[in-house]
Amino acid sequence: MPAFETPALQTPITQDVLTLPRRAAEAARPNLVGLTRDGMRAALLDAGVPEKQVNMRVGQVWAWIYERGVRDFAQMTNLSKSLRADLDGRFEIRLPEIVRKDVSGDGTRKYLVRIAGGHEVETVYIPEEGRGTLCISSQVGCTLTCSFCHTGTQRLVRNLTADEIVGQVMQARDDLGEWPAPGRNPKDETRLLSNIVLMGMGEPLYNFDNVRDAMKIVMDPEGISLSRRRITLSTSGVVPEIARCAEEIGCLLAVSFHATTDDVRDRLVPINRRWNIDALLGALRAYPKLSNSERITFEYVMLRDVNDSDDDARRLVKLIEGIPAKINLIPFNEWPGAPYERSSNNRIRAFADIVYKAGYASPIRTPRGEDIMAACGQLKSDTERVRKSRREIEAEARA
Ligand code: SAH
Ligand code: SF4
Repeated sequence: MPAFETPALQTPITQDVLTLPRRAAEAARPNLVGLTRDGMRAALLDAGVPEKQVNMRVGQVWAWIYERGVRDFAQMTNLSKSLRADLDGRFEIRLPEIVRKDVSGDGTRKYLVRIAGGHEVETVYIPEEGRGTLCISSQVGCTLTCSFCHTGTQRLVRNLTADEIVGQVMQARDDLGEWPAPGRNPKDETRLLSNIVLMGMGEPLYNFDNVRDAMKIVMDPEGISLSRRRITLSTSGVVPEIARCAEEIGCLLAVSFHATTDDVRDRLVPINRRWNIDALLGALRAYPKLSNSERITFEYVMLRDVNDSDDDARRLVKLIEGIPAKINLIPFNEWPGAPYERSSNNRIRAFADIVYKAGYASPIRTPRGEDIMAACGQLKSDTERVRKSRREIEAEARA
């Protein structure tokens, strides 16, 4: 049994046997969470709300759900009692469940979220000076297999639905106690959850429609009302979908670049074999900018002796010439069995210096929540870890 599996054995295995609390009959009712405004309109019409009233009713229900965080139709006091009862009989306001919460020594919170079918994803909240960022997942696992990423080793994969994506934001607001009291301005810049990054589990551009619908809900001015500039979608380089991100969501873009030659990028980010560095840069050069100040973030994980030389840094700045960019250097976060090591601090600083002198911001990302395996690339649901260790045990028993 390899030494790296030991921590998994200490993970409580109760996660595997928790039963889903929802009753089948309840689960059968359609969920209002995750519907676009048009979708909610159609649902209310279907429920018998008269055409003349439907826009007003959508506005009211929307505000209760997304502005106030209400989950119970009975509390929607500007609807008639009979409409509340009708809606209650037909629909649900349902979020996925948080089955576990870990809080790091640095304040980072990691939520293990259980979704329909008993699958699990992770959401991470990172408090910082002046802002709080929620890192959300778009898929269970990931179909891509970047060799430095823990999520990429997870076998189980399914797309999250829009309600499961927006549900992660709503749950974090529940946990942070951030649904505004009546009369308080929800656009308040002092909010605890002020930014969203689609940098959790999964490749968001392989689940584009659900991600788009969820982000539209999050940005809706009569709801959670986050600015599009406070949302960043990170992709490993799904070239044909990149432009849609600006056109249909309008959020900021980050790209997991990680290498400066196709040879190395093929090994680190295998999607590069489909769309190589040249194709990716072409899509980034053409990325429709909604404002001049909006730069593309290049994420670059620092792997010792793999992609961290001065030559790499020089090649990088040459490759991206002409693209308004910021280079986010991510010290590699280790996970059990990872085949790489983190570059030394001196190496990372020397790399950052070359990039900076070429005229690009080159912040080095401080790892957050490492003690609870919440840092970039460490996410992988616990049941999966437990399942894997069980398989190991079985294999060992057979040996
Ligand atoms: N699938 C998307 C978004 C999720 S990953 C993407 O790949 O862009 C978020 C970021 O964390 C990506 O830049 C990813 O390459 C990086 N990452 C993955 N594993 C990592 C690790 N072990 N250490 C540091 N960063 C990692
Ligand atoms: Fe998937 Fe992103 Fe991890 Fe690659 S880095 S395996 S695309 S989650």
